[in-house]
Formats: sequence, structure tokens, C-alpha cells
Amino acid sequence: MNLSKKFQDILDGKKVDTPLVGTVTTAGILDLMDISGASRPEADNDPEKMAKLASSLHTVAKLEVIRIPFDVTVVGEALGCQTDPGTKARTLSVITHPFEANPEELEIPTDLVERGRIPVVMETISLLKSDTGLQVPLVAGIEGPADLASYLCGIRSFLKLTVKKPEIARNIIEKCIDACIICANSYLRSSADAVVIADALSSPEMMGPDAFRRIVKPSLIRFNKSIRGHSILHICGETDSIIPDILECGFSAISIEENVKDLEYVVDIAHRNNTAVIGKISTVDTLYRKVPEDVRKEAFQCLDANIDIFAPGCGLAPETPLKNIQSMVEARDEYVEKRFRFKRYNDNKKLTDFLL
Ligand SMILES: [Zn+2]
Repeated sequence: MNLSKKFQDILDGKKVDTPLVGTVTTAGILDLMDISGASRPEADNDPEKMAKLASSLHTVAKLEVIRIPFDVTVVGEALGCQTDPGTKARTLSVITHPFEANPEELEIPTDLVERGRIPVVMETISLLKSDTGLQVPLVAGIEGPADLASYLCGIRSFLKLTVKKPEIARNIIEKCIDACIICANSYLRSSADAVVIADALSSPEMMGPDAFRRIVKPSLIRFNKSIRGHSILHICGETDSIIPDILECGFSAISIEENVKDLEYVVDIAHRNNTAVIGKISTVDTLYRKVPEDVRKEAFQCLDANIDIFAPGCGLAPETPLKNIQSMVEARDEYVEKRFRFKRYNDNKKLTDFLL
């Protein structure tokens, strides 16, 4: 089975026989750091270590789609935010907001791709996609325009602008999406199979659906018109109310969380829009806290809803047990095998009704 070809087919909207299992959200887990010998924060800064830890997502955790980097602060950092480097068990985070006092002064530097850790991510992609590298689909992650704006201007200040001075907020988002476009095209040129934009602040629970439609959506449409390759959008939380808008933005796939209320509806309208759906096993309640049998149950529910890539619904906690991640592929294999036998007799029924 050629995983990269299958991944491309899924993102092209073609039907494939078996759903893939992978991750497009951050997945730096402690068990894999111990096994691979590549730990953060070194694996956040050194291409060889980042490649080693990412490889273990496939060679050890068995995932069929992998993602780098292990954080969502690379572009913010390149634009001047200072970060706390974190520790093995704590992801790095933005601690300063350089444009908080003067958001209108934000400009995207022409040498952006040479700044901060963007070259590290590009080199890691080249290492993983070289002829001697892993033959596994690789997704490169970028923080989305609203998250980037919140890093640069401070989350409270930026959300205030979306309400009181929406034109300024729009202007900032357009500059942020310019940075996302530059970064995405560099990652795609380095041979990433797709880029994923992760934009937690765009969640209806954070900025509200109206602000998303007026301020962020136009920038996401421009993003997809400006990049040369496949793109995925991840927005956290209960995104049902903005799914139709997201689908109008032109992404090849959407990555959704367990809080999405009506999975079958989301999959149905996404497929009618030629968009694949990725998700949505609970990262905290199931993958972090529970055991492989619970992973199996949730896998069957997602697969019965025709999800295209079975994946964590959001970024993984570092303490997530490896055995739970490994059981994701086992659950998919069991599901596919049982469905094959079951379908011959019960065409319209769900497998979960019989097995859980
Ligand atoms: Zn999320």
C-alpha cells in the first residue's frame, strides 16, 4: 500500500478502500521521545531530532500520516514573539506580544522564511521526504491567522479589536495570512504532502461565528488561492455552526474535534463539497485518560460515520500513553475486516450497533 498516493487521493476527493489513520495535529509524546532518543525542547530546534521523533510516529506508533512541528508557535516566533522554550513535558509557548501597543505597525518581513525556526521545519521536511527517508505522508503545521494575530497583538487586545475596530482586525488578519501563505509555500516546496493551518481562536467558542465570517473567512479563501498544494484546516471546539463557511474556503480537508455535535452531517456536507474529514477521537478524555478498548469504540463510531482519516481531534498531551495511539491502527484494521464480512448481509446498518 502506497500511503502517500492514498493520502493524495483522499485530499483530491477520490474514494479509497480503507480510511487512513494518522495525525495532523501536534503529537510530541513522552513515550516516543524515550524510544526515539529525541526529546523536546531539542526536537523543536534540531532538524535531525525533529525528524527522528516524527519518524517514530510511524515506525513505533504505526500512524500512516505524520505531522511536524510539535508546537504551533513557529511563525509567531519568526515575526518577533519571544517564547518560553518549555521542557520535555511542556510545549513551548508565546510569552511576548510585540505589536500589542501598535498593531497597525505589523509588517511581514521579506526574509520571513529565513527567520526563527522556519528553516528548521523546512530542513526536517527535506530529511523526512528524501529518497532514504520515510515513505509516509508528511503534513507541516502552521498557526492560523487568528492565532498568529493573538500572538502578535495579545489575545485580549486582538479580540477587543474584532468587536470595536473590525477594520483594523481585518487588516491584521490579512497580514497574518500573508505570513501563512509564504510559510505554506516554502513547506510545500520542501516536499511536504500538505500543510495544516491550526486556528484555535477561530473557534465559535472563542471569537464567535459572525466575527469568523467577517474577519477570518476571506483570508482563508485567499490562502487557498495562493498556495501550491494541498491544505487542511483545524479549528478546535464545537465548529458545527461554521462548517458550511469553512467548506467554502477551499481546503482539501478539515480536521475536527470530538465536540462537533453532528458528525454524520459534517461528513456528508464535506463530502458533497469534495472535502475530506479528519478526526475526531478525544485527545484528553480517551487517548490520554482511557485504554485501548475505549479507543476501539470511538474508532468504530468515527469509521461508521465515514471519516476519511481517523485521527486525534486536537493536539496530543505529552503524557498520552503510546499503547492508545498504537491501538488506533489496530482498531481501524479490525473495523475494515469486520465491515467487509458484515456488509454482505446488512447493507444499511452500522457496525457499531452490533459490536459495541
Ligand atoms: Zn484543536
